[in-house]
Amino acid sequence: MSDRFLSGKNALVTGSTSGIGLGIAKSLAQAGANIALNGFGDHQRAVSEIEKWGVKTLYHPADMRKSGEISDMVSIVKSHWQHIDILVNNAGIQYVSPIEKFPIDKWDDILAINLSSSFHTTRSVLPGMREKNWGRIINLASVHGLVGSADKSAYVAAKHGLIGLTKVTALETATTGITCNAICPGWVLTPLVQQQVDAKANALNISTDEATRLLLSEKEPSMQFTTPEELGALAVFLCSNAGNNIRGAAWNMDGGWAAQ
Ligand code: NAD
Repeated sequence: MSDRFLSGKNALVTGSTSGIGLGIAKSLAQAGANIALNGFGDHQRAVSEIEKWGVKTLYHPADMRKSGEISDMVSIVKSHWQHIDILVNNAGIQYVSPIEKFPIDKWDDILAINLSSSFHTTRSVLPGMREKNWGRIINLASVHGLVGSADKSAYVAAKHGLIGLTKVTALETATTGITCNAICPGWVLTPLVQQQVDAKANALNISTDEATRLLLSEKEPSMQFTTPEELGALAVFLCSNAGNNIRGAAWNMDGGWAAQ
């Protein structure tokens, strides 16, 4: 396998302006894939980081809560590059609250972004992948797609649902060159988790370092964060020929969290 084995392939990575999505986008670009980026915040910085790998880039600001904007994003990427070969459904948000107090708009947003957006992107890219008889769909689920945690009802429900969608997509494409799998990280120190560390530090009146150690010790036996680079390497592996018959897997990279 050459280092640039994804040259000529086009990848769409949702929520790739920061964190895990940007990490995966960089790893795919390093392997030669052109990258269509999406997400909020400073997209120029993300585009510059990807361009370092000498690949083509696009950016679309589609809001993953809105099916019309998702369709528009897929159409625009196809109008520039004809095909989307690799789809990484990564955009996601978190909100922490007991069920009785969980704001309805947060529930709706989490279900829309963390679950339904993957249905909309998947249904839009599958016809093109079927034409080429090749494709990779990688869904960023979570260890919370495999086990629950209190106060995360919407997130856990959406991530369990995403693993279900992954299995069905894998079955419907099982005799083709298209594969669909889920990646299930434990803690990754991105803005999404930093917010939870900060909330813990404030609530318990402890330092950020202590809150970080507490967060890890509650769930992750390795006491170490998974990195966006490690997740990027797994995504690249799933795109390689070695991944040709990995179908419908929910692959955890969680420091032993789900093994307990
Ligand atoms: P992050 O906050 O760093 O990045 C989230 C990305 O999604 C950003 O690019 C953001 O702009 C984008 N986004 C948010 N709302 C959006 C919307 N409505 N439309 C389009 N884009 C939107 O978070 P992260 O930690 O990198 O999380 C990425 C994915 O990994 C999420 O699906 C998350 O659930 C999952 N995950 C994260 C962890 C972790 O510990 N960080 C663990 C397991 C799974």
